[in-house]
Amino acid sequence: MTATTSDIEKAAGVLRAGGLVAFPTETVYGLGANAENPAAVARVFQVKGRPSSHPLIVHIADPRRLGDWVEEVPATARLLAERFWPGPLTLVLRRGRRVSREATGGMETVAVRVPGHPVALALLSAFGGGVAAPSANRFGSVSPTTAGHVRAELGDAVDFVLDGGPCDVGVESTIVDLTGDAPEVLRPGGVTREDLEAALGRPLAVPATSRIRVPGQHPSHYAPRARVILVEPEKVVAEAELAQELGHRVGVFLPPAFAGAPVKAHAVVELPASTSAYARGLYGFLRELDQRGCDLIVASLPEERGLGLAIANRLRRAAGPRPSD
Ligand code: AMP
Ligand code: MG
Repeated sequence: MTATTSDIEKAAGVLRAGGLVAFPTETVYGLGANAENPAAVARVFQVKGRPSSHPLIVHIADPRRLGDWVEEVPATARLLAERFWPGPLTLVLRRGRRVSREATGGMETVAVRVPGHPVALALLSAFGGGVAAPSANRFGSVSPTTAGHVRAELGDAVDFVLDGGPCDVGVESTIVDLTGDAPEVLRPGGVTREDLEAALGRPLAVPATSRIRVPGQHPSHYAPRARVILVEPEKVVAEAELAQELGHRVGVFLPPAFAGAPVKAHAVVELPASTSAYARGLYGFLRELDQRGCDLIVASLPEERGLGLAIANRLRRAAGPRPSD
């Protein structure tokens, strides 16, 4: 059910009153608060169970207002904003005074994005200010890509949930740090490295996905309840069947090359052939296998180009060591 104009006005009122609104973006659903209200931002961390030192992304409606939120807008930021906003790209810049320290986790930098979703843009325009938001899930778990996911996970802890249907991109935004000598990708996401490099006219550094570069990221981010193991694509079926025989309830991410193959496992997700469809479905597939009671998910990494880079990054993190390990 897509949000109506009156839902959007109501949600903007909730933000003005210091409340929390979950809202759709083209990447994933966000859990938003007025970026200038420290108490409201503090509640976002509390509801998510997220350490308060981990910064949020400030969402704004109008790229021309970027200067309100940062100390200065360098030429590279202007170029990338013009090319990719509204869209799944987050820029990290030196923070301006307007943004509350709570929203930046006490850092001297701020992450800003103009989301490419009509409901998000309508909310941001109606509200008028910046909305600080991380993904609308509990810390460390899988990001929500439908309003139903948000309600199931956060329930009454959120004051208002705007429904904009399923997210079109399905993985989080690409985060580019523009505070150093050269632009650096902190998190691969919805804007591909190839498109960024074409816009910048030069190659971009993308840190190894296992490196913990950004506060707020740790290896087991984006993890379902079931343990995830990554194997070579041609070993997915054999590994899954072996684990199932050993007594696990195995969920399988079946690569498109093996579509239709019989697999003796608890649950099988046949992966779509297109990476954009895979990205769109990724978090829903992980949630589905959790819901079906799997304790182990066997998957392989897609080719790491285009959106495949972001998918591989999330799968590696889902397979990473858990804090309780
Ligand atoms: P989430 O999408 O829920 O993980 O939340 C926002 C993401 O943006 C987190 O991964 C943060 O670490 C990242 N982020 C926000 N602000 C900054 C910043 N100033 N520098 C680097 N990363 C940031
Ligand atoms: Mg998140």
